[in-house]
Amino acid sequence: MSVSEKYNLAGQVALVTGGSRGIGRACASELAAAGAAVAINYKSNREAAESLADELGAAGLKIVAVQADVADAGQVKAMVAQVEKELGPVSILVNNAGVNRDGLVMRMSEEDFDTVIGASLRGAFLCSRAVARGMMKARGGCIINISSVIGRRGNAGQANYAAAKAGMIGMTKALAKELGPRGVRVNAVAPGYVITDMTAVLPEDMKELILKNTPLGRLAMPEEVASVVAFLASPAAAYITGAVIPVDGGLGI
Ligand code: NAP
Repeated sequence: MSVSEKYNLAGQVALVTGGSRGIGRACASELAAAGAAVAINYKSNREAAESLADELGAAGLKIVAVQADVADAGQVKAMVAQVEKELGPVSILVNNAGVNRDGLVMRMSEEDFDTVIGASLRGAFLCSRAVARGMMKARGGCIINISSVIGRRGNAGQANYAAAKAGMIGMTKALAKELGPRGVRVNAVAPGYVITDMTAVLPEDMKELILKNTPLGRLAMPEEVASVVAFLASPAAAYITGAVIPVDGGLGI
């Protein structure tokens, strides 16, 4: 296999949850650049998702924007049915959708706990369940979960987020064991701090502390996470499953 073939995703159908902005947007772009047809999921930001679909589709690829709250089982089922009808069976799922609602545990509302678990952990479960049968039948495919350095290390004020992201790591390993015998690979990427809307609101003193503890001394660009996602989706990663790959500039060491 030539080097370009190893990273080629032509003929693949990718579904990226939370693809309208930030890391998900970069993942959708990177997977499309490697030749995949891409479904860009969004929850509320229709304009951003549709403009990305137009931009990527201009290169001649099949790209669609699909609305769904990934925490809602009915909406996930309908979304996957729509993607399969428009693009074909999903062979690459990137569970990227996520939110944070930070706060100390004594003051954290049940709603803030459930919202964060819903978008990341429950969403990853519902989307994985919705595509698993098709992947197993095809004896191939891959699921990539966007976890976080916080899921590996915890962080004060982020009990909900740390639990969601650690849960995704556990689920990655369980599904790798469950689906591996059918040729389906399941991996996680654990980014450090990435320049997106989610981190734009961090206070300056916290940013300074993060930079001090990051050996590479800078935050990441979303594209630096997306290139690892595209690698994991490609034939070059054919023997990798159940892995959690940090993309954190060394913050998690
Ligand atoms: P972001 O810029 O805030 O974008 C979040 C994306 O998730 C948006 O596309 C949003 O859709 C979507 N979303 C949120 N809740 C959803 C739901 N219930 N159903 C469907 N889509 C939903 O976030 P980001 O920084 O790119 O983060 C992406 C992922 O990486 C998250 O899982 C995050 O936890 C993880 N991560 C981020 C960092 C970081 O430093 N930024 C670090 C580690 C891990 P709308 O646009 O429609 O609202």
